Amino acid sequence: MGLTTKILIGIILGLIVGIVLNATSPELFTTLDNYVFDPVGTLFVKAIKMIVVPLVFFSIVAGAAGIADPKKLGRVGIKTILLYLATTAIAISIGLTMANVINPGESTTIPTNVEEAEIKQAPPIKETLLNIIPDNPVTAMAETSMLQVIAFSLFFGIAMALLGSKVSTVKNFIDQSNEVMIKIVHMVMYVAPYGAFALMARAIGSAGTDIIGSMAWYMIAVVGALLLHVAITYTTLLTLLAKINPLRFFKAMGPAIEVAFTTSSSAATLPVTMECAERGLKIPKSVSSFVLPLGATINMDGTAIMQGVAAVFIAQLYGIPLDFTAQLTIILTATLASIGTAAVPGVGLITLAMVLDSVGLPVSGIAIILGVDRLLDMTRTAVNITGDATVAAVIGRGEEKRTESKTSAA
Ligand code: ASP
Repeated sequence: MGLTTKILIGIILGLIVGIVLNATSPELFTTLDNYVFDPVGTLFVKAIKMIVVPLVFFSIVAGAAGIADPKKLGRVGIKTILLYLATTAIAISIGLTMANVINPGESTTIPTNVEEAEIKQAPPIKETLLNIIPDNPVTAMAETSMLQVIAFSLFFGIAMALLGSKVSTVKNFIDQSNEVMIKIVHMVMYVAPYGAFALMARAIGSAGTDIIGSMAWYMIAVVGALLLHVAITYTTLLTLLAKINPLRFFKAMGPAIEVAFTTSSSAATLPVTMECAERGLKIPKSVSSFVLPLGATINMDGTAIMQGVAAVFIAQLYGIPLDFTAQLTIILTATLASIGTAAVPGVGLITLAMVLDSVGLPVSGIAIILGVDRLLDMTRTAVNITGDATVAAVIGRGEEKRTESKTSAA
């Protein structure tokens, strides 16, 4: 049985156990959660998170050091960022269209028992951009500041490329360390089905399914838009630009999509995303090692979709009309907000404040969708990492084509 199937079985069993416990015995759920679900789920997430910083460092350094042509790095960088921005903008447009068609806010009554959400301020986008260069790379690694780790690793790798054979010992060390990190990913993935089971049982057991009730239309709009984005945008990009059969793509990326779904964290999933993309999709390492960590950090199509739908939903609940300009503003701010969203559970809801604020919607509206966000976070994180892998496949294909045409010209 393949890993994808095993994890899927874990997810389904977790779902069943969660629903049954939530409906029949909340006390038993609390006990099991304390002694089984929470420890197993937490250990699994910690084990993959543990690999993120060293894996990103070694693989970006190895990737950048292996690029003999510095122009390639610039070209790949610019193309990647443009594709990330474009797919995110398309994602929000799909989200907005879906919300305007389904009108989720019209059939919903505002739940009365909503507790005030603890709404933290998202960092301003300027700060995020200025912070890309770390004051201290060790602090950046210790605090898992991904953009800073990426920046430092790029400097390190490019310097190595410039020094060439003078630093061959360092290069060997980096390459072999990279291998070691990949081995750890394999070891951790061995227990992924159990981790997925525990995380799923936790999520469903504590949230329950009855909260869905009045929020069903909002959830349908979000999930519908996520599916449409995958079916239209990703499938088109994969078929036309990456020249990959979408079925092959989803088969290869299966474990990563499942891990994203259960952990709700693109950052925690990153080691698995990289492994699936490199091994299953054969995306060149020089591309995936840079494109995927960057994507996990700044590219969040699923989050942007949720933010677009949530903005329309909240506007409808409060009876505030959103004209065309307001919707364009949402596209712009949700693109920026998704860049500033940390790749961990629940942050998309915090950066939603920025989107609501930009069009004069009450930020307290976040409290209304808080209850169902745990479940939606799972679905949008799965889309977030699928988007990263799609762009990596497109860029990978582009680079391969360049190499092919160069060799045939020579
Ligand atoms: N959980 C999401 C991720 O890690 C971010 C979010 O939308 O909250 O990709």
